[in-house]
Amino acid sequence: MRNGLDLLRDPLLNKGTAFTAEERDKARLEGLLPPVIQSVEEQMDQVLYDVRRKSSNLERYLYLAGLEDRNETLFYRVLANHLEELMPFVYTPTVGDACSAWSDVYRRPRGLYLSLEQRGRLERVLRNWPHPFEVIVVTDGERILGLGDLGVGGMGISIGKLSLYAACAGIHPRLCLPVTLDVGTDNPEALGDPHYLGLRRPRLRGQEYDDFVAEFMQAVESIRPGSLVQFEDFGNRNAFRLLERWRREACVFNDDIQGTAAVTLAGLLSALRLTGQPLTQQRILFLGAGEAGVGIGDLIASALVEEGLSLEQARSQLWFFDSQGLVVAERTGLAEHKLRYAHPSSPCQSFEEAVHRLKPTVLIGVSTIAGAFNQTVVERMSEFNQRPILFALSNPTSRAECTAEQAYLWSQGRAIFSSGSPFAPVRYEGRLLFPGQGNNAYIFPGVGLGVLASRARHVTDSMFSAAARVLASCVEESDLAVSRVYPALSQIRRVSRKIAEEVARVAFAEGLAAGPAPDSIEELVGRAIWEPVY
Ligand code: NAD
Repeated sequence: MRNGLDLLRDPLLNKGTAFTAEERDKARLEGLLPPVIQSVEEQMDQVLYDVRRKSSNLERYLYLAGLEDRNETLFYRVLANHLEELMPFVYTPTVGDACSAWSDVYRRPRGLYLSLEQRGRLERVLRNWPHPFEVIVVTDGERILGLGDLGVGGMGISIGKLSLYAACAGIHPRLCLPVTLDVGTDNPEALGDPHYLGLRRPRLRGQEYDDFVAEFMQAVESIRPGSLVQFEDFGNRNAFRLLERWRREACVFNDDIQGTAAVTLAGLLSALRLTGQPLTQQRILFLGAGEAGVGIGDLIASALVEEGLSLEQARSQLWFFDSQGLVVAERTGLAEHKLRYAHPSSPCQSFEEAVHRLKPTVLIGVSTIAGAFNQTVVERMSEFNQRPILFALSNPTSRAECTAEQAYLWSQGRAIFSSGSPFAPVRYEGRLLFPGQGNNAYIFPGVGLGVLASRARHVTDSMFSAAARVLASCVEESDLAVSRVYPALSQIRRVSRKIAEEVARVAFAEGLAAGPAPDSIEELVGRAIWEPVY
């Protein structure tokens, strides 16, 4: 039992002005709080009032981070109840500003920094974390959103993602551990910034890097065996390799590759309900062939295989255009993860020409190149397609391949549009159209909850395709009527729970869960959910 200031300073036990008169008396809080006793509803009103009157989104981010430090229950309650309004300040796009300014906005300890200087004793440092973690989000800060190498600034992403685990799926915040591996940075601005809080050295590469990550993974396994580790915002050259290296050995996934893939596949399945065409007849052109692009391609290919195509046929419907042009067989020096999509065709350096040549039904932008879906591209897509599907997924908002307004305007209101960061609804010729937000938060919290509830040993691709199908099934006709290909964010806790149940079912069916399947998967998942109530 904590009393007095100790109690008020414990963010999980603190209720602030909501402590009742009896509690104040018992816990020796009288006099330490202002006299008014507020309900949690009044506290939430106060938070929203405070957030709204801040003059910048970064200030809103910092205010909410402060609230999380003081009163976690209130933070998660207000976040879960007002996700549509608050998620953009806790996660993308604002988290990008916070990561960029991390060394200036850093205030209080949250998460664990594991640096190269601690090599050989990572387990000891990990033991400094005071809570029994079960979920880790780990980044090395090399490819933060579409912003590149932000070094230790990447911590903002690990923290933000874990806040969404708790807010969207009800995973208890004490089980969540944000980690940043500081292996140096190649960002010249950070290296030259006297305030930079990370190691001032070039990034570690090669075998030594892999050994450092391996030491971290072994430390996790020895302290909390079976913990779920989410790899987040690693650079291309490491992300695919690390996932392959660890996916059969530990309980890991990479959200940029697998989570993005699932949320995009779900959006595509919903969009096809609008066009009335089958998945097997789509020709999909990706702008960008990195983690997101190839991850999405691989999951769509496996969905096509589930629908009866051979893997070769499936892949032949997926085309990629990267910074060097169209990915074709005769290009040399292609990275390993692109080779399976290098089809026989002549080279092409112009994206507009590639669109003209391939006549895709779907464009997926994961390039970080703002404006790449220009007027010509969108108009062309609208010539071949009655309802062109345009997913401009690059984050933050400033990197989106086109805006929602442009997509609707240039397609005369026919585009089915979705983005990575949120766009406001657009009025086109009297109709209000709702852009979808292909937010990974629809997927990873539910997958995490399902893995935790079933104590699954590994995270498999079939869990992600199951999650995608559940998400798509949660889209109502009323959403589709306004062009929205995802459920409203306000539905996310319900959606996450359904995803968790399906993921747990897959875990039991694949023999990956601990013990036999229970009579009720719903109850199993229900028991793992934390509700932010006093
Ligand atoms: P990445 O660095 O792995 O890949 C970027 C790709 O873009 C590379 O293939 C690169 O060659 C290509 N590219 C760069 N410049 C280009 C140009 N001028 N023309 C064509 N291609 C070019 O990054 P990633 O993880 O694949 O993420 C890409 C973007 O997608 C980021 O902005 C990220 O925030 C966003 N993303 C969105 C979601 C979502 O909406 N749910 C999820 C994950 C990633």
